[in-house]
Amino acid sequence: MPNHDEVNLTTNISLAVKLMEDLITPTFVINSDGVVIIWNKACEMITGVEAKTVIGTKKHWMALYDKPRMCLADAVLKGNITDEELSSLYDSHSQPVIDRKGQFLHAHNWCVVPNIPGEKYLSFDAGPIYNECGDIVAVVETISDLTELKNTQIQLEKLATFDGLTGIANRRHFDDQLNSIWLNAQRYKQPLSLLMIDVDYFKQYNDTYGHQEGDDCLVNVANCIDKELKRSLDMAFRYGGEEFAVLLPDTNRTGAYYMAEKIREAISEMALEHTGSQVSALVTVSIGIGTLCPEPGLNSDKLVLGADEALYLAKAEGRNRSNLAT
Ligand code: GH3
Ligand code: MG
Ligand code: MG
Repeated sequence: MPNHDEVNLTTNISLAVKLMEDLITPTFVINSDGVVIIWNKACEMITGVEAKTVIGTKKHWMALYDKPRMCLADAVLKGNITDEELSSLYDSHSQPVIDRKGQFLHAHNWCVVPNIPGEKYLSFDAGPIYNECGDIVAVVETISDLTELKNTQIQLEKLATFDGLTGIANRRHFDDQLNSIWLNAQRYKQPLSLLMIDVDYFKQYNDTYGHQEGDDCLVNVANCIDKELKRSLDMAFRYGGEEFAVLLPDTNRTGAYYMAEKIREAISEMALEHTGSQVSALVTVSIGIGTLCPEPGLNSDKLVLGADEALYLAKAEGRNRSNLAT
C-alpha cells in the first residue's frame, strides 16, 4: 500500500503532466535519455506532428527540421554547449545561462514544419529539470511562432535598404556601405573608387514624356548599371533623384574609368529615345569618378566630394562623358 506522501506525490505529478499537456504554450519534454515523454496539444498544433508519433522516440527533430539534427532540449541535455555550436545550429541565440550543471538556452531559426506549407520562424527556450540530488531528469522546451514578426522585420529592413522605384540599394545604404567599405580599404591598403552617375537633361525627359515614363527610364538606367557590375563587391545605389552611385572596392583610377565608360556606353546602347536632350537623341549619362587610397586621417567625404566635382565638370564640358577627379 502506498503511504499518504507517495499518493500525494503521484497526484502532484499527474497534475503537473496534465497542466503541461493543456498548456497553451507549445511545449515538449525529453527525459535524461533524450526520449520524448511529453508533447503537448499546443505543440501538436504548431508543428502538425501528433504526440503519438514522437512520444517514446528521439525523433522530435522531425517536427521542426527536414533532416536529423540537435534540438535545443538536446543541447541542454548534452551540456556545456558553446556559443560556436549554437551559432552553427541557429540563426540567432542568446548567451547560455549557466544554472548549476545545466544551461538555459534561447534561440531562433527558420524551421521546415512537416504537413504545414512554407517555413516558420520559431523561437525556442529550453531548460533542465533536476531531481533532489541535482541530476538532470528531464529537459523542457517551449516554442513560439515568430514568423509574422520576422517577416515584418525583413520587410522593414528591405524598405530601409532598397529604393522603392528601382529596387537597387538606396542612399541610406550607400552611407552605411561607404563607411564599412572605406574602413576595409584602409585595413587592406586598397584603393576605393566611386562613380557618380547623373542622367543628362532629365528634367526635359520628364517634360517631354511625362513623369511616369521618367520613372520607367530611371528603372531602366538602374538595371543597366547593375548589370554592368560583375564583381561581387561592386555595388550600385540610387543616390537621389536621377543620380546613381557605384562603389568599386579595390579598384584604381584606370579600372574605375574603364567601368565608368562601360556603364556610360551600355546606357547609350539601350537606345532610349530622348528628343529633349541637347547632347544626343538618346538617354545619356555623365559620370564623375573619384579614387582614393584611404590613408588614416582621410575622410570618406573626400571621395564623395571628388566624384561630385568630377561630375560637375563632366556636365560643364558637354555631358555624355566620364571625368576623373584631379
Ligand atoms: P543635367 O543634364 O544637368 O543633369 O540636367 P537635368 O535636367 O538632368 O538635371 P536637373 O537637376 O535640373 O533635373 C533633374 C530632374 O530629375 C528633375 C526632377 O524632376 C527629376 N527627377 C528626380 N527624381 C525623379 C523621379 O523619381 N522620377 C522622375 N520621373 N523624375 C525625377
Ligand atoms: Mg541630370
Ligand atoms: Mg542631378
